[in-house]
Amino acid sequence: MDSDGKESVMISIRCDACRKDIKDARKDVNYISILGRDFCSSCNDKLRENAGKAWMSRAPMHYAEYQTLLQKTVVKMTAG
Ligand SMILES: [Zn+2]
Repeated sequence: MDSDGKESVMISIRCDACRKDIKDARKDVNYISILGRDFCSSCNDKLRENAGKAWMSRAPMHYAEYQTLLQKTVVKMTAG
């Protein structure tokens, strides 16, 4: 811990999907926040992939439905 009085800007975030700590977390740089859950960049990729697959299997689908699908995928990935 810093004892020189400087304000620490290091933010520690834990990925809600893989439960790993994201070092030097910067939103929209190396992690994203969606529905109040934090995803590291690799889990974000997985999230898009999972939601994308389900999207393709159910096409045609409206964008609003994709959002619902994405939410369900987020919940599924962070439930474990
Ligand atoms: Zn992760």
